[in-house]
Amino acid sequence: MTSSLEIKSLIEDIKEQVLYMQELGVDSLDIQLPPLAVSEPALQRGAPAAPAGKSAYVVPEEPIYKKNAPPTAVPVERPPTDLSRLSRLPTLANRQQRITAPEIRRESPKVNVPQQSMAKEKSESVLFDITKALPDVNETVAQIQSDIGDCQRCDLCKERKNIAHSTGSLNADLMFIGEAPGADEDLQGKPFVGRAGQLLTKIIEAIGMTREDVFIGNINRCRPPGNRQPTPAESAQCKPFLFREIAAVKPKVIVVLGNTACQNLLETKVGITKLRGNFQDYFGVKVMPTFHPAYLLRDPSKKRETWDDMKKVRDYLNQVS
Ligand code: URA
Ligand code: URA
Repeated sequence: MTSSLEIKSLIEDIKEQVLYMQELGVDSLDIQLPPLAVSEPALQRGAPAAPAGKSAYVVPEEPIYKKNAPPTAVPVERPPTDLSRLSRLPTLANRQQRITAPEIRRESPKVNVPQQSMAKEKSESVLFDITKALPDVNETVAQIQSDIGDCQRCDLCKERKNIAHSTGSLNADLMFIGEAPGADEDLQGKPFVGRAGQLLTKIIEAIGMTREDVFIGNINRCRPPGNRQPTPAESAQCKPFLFREIAAVKPKVIVVLGNTACQNLLETKVGITKLRGNFQDYFGVKVMPTFHPAYLLRDPSKKRETWDDMKKVRDYLNQVS
C-alpha cells in the first residue's frame, strides 16, 4: 500500500524533474502523465487559501508540457496510465538506497595497468585485447590520485592553486568528462563546481540521478591560465591518469562534454557538433559526446540537443541495469 508520504515525495520528485527540464530548455515531456483523478473539492482542500473573492484553484492557460509545442501538434486523448509508468523517476527512498548501497557490482581487479597511455596500449598490448574491453585492474582511484602527488609534470602546475581530481561514486555506471578546471574548480580543488558545474548538476538530475551517483573528471586537472584550452602536450601528460580511473571505475557510459574531452578520449579530430548524439566506443564502454555546459550557458538554445543526448544515455542505462 502506498503511503501518502510516498505519494508526497513522488510528487515532489516530479515537480523537481519538470523544473530541471524547464531549466534545460526542454519543451515537451515524453512520458504519459496519469489522468487527473482527483475531485475538485479534494484539490481545494490541498490548495493554499485564496484571497476573498478569488478562486483558489487557478487553471493555467496552457499546461507546461504544451507551452512550446509546435502549432501543428494535435491533442491526443490520453489512455489511463498507472503510476508504475513513472517508476524511473527516483523516489527519495531509492535515491537513498543507491547512495548507501554497498559496492557489489565491481569484480576484484586482476591486472595492474602500468602508468602509461592506454591509447598506446590499444595498439601494442599483447596481454589482453584491450580494444574490446577495459582491462581488469587492481588499482583504486585513491592510488591513482596518490600517484599524481604534487604534480609538476607540466607547466600548468606553476599557476594552479589546487589539483582538481575526479570525484564521485567509485562504482558509477555513468561518468562525465570535461576539459580542465576553471577558477572555482582551481580554488576548491574539485571538478565542475562553478556555474558550468551547476548546470551539469541539473543535467544529471534531469535524468533521475545525483552527482553522488556519477563520477566526474577532466582531461586536465590543473587550471590553464585565463581558462585557455589545455595544449595537446599538457593533455598528453594528464589524461593517462583519467584513463586509469576509467579502468578502475568501469562505467557503463561516459559522457564527454565538449571538444577537448571528446577529441582526447576518442582520439579524433571530428568536432562535437558532428559527433554529438551518437554513441561512440571506448574499449567497449559507450561514449556519448554532447555539448559542454559552459557552451550551453553561452548558447542556451543548444540545451535541447544536450537533453536529447542525455535521454539516450538514460534509456541505455535503464536497458542494461
Ligand atoms: N569546465 C570544465 O571543463 N571542467 C570543469 O571542471 C569546470 C569547467
Ligand atoms: N566547442 C566545444 O569545445 N564545446 C562545445 O560544447 C561546443 C563547441
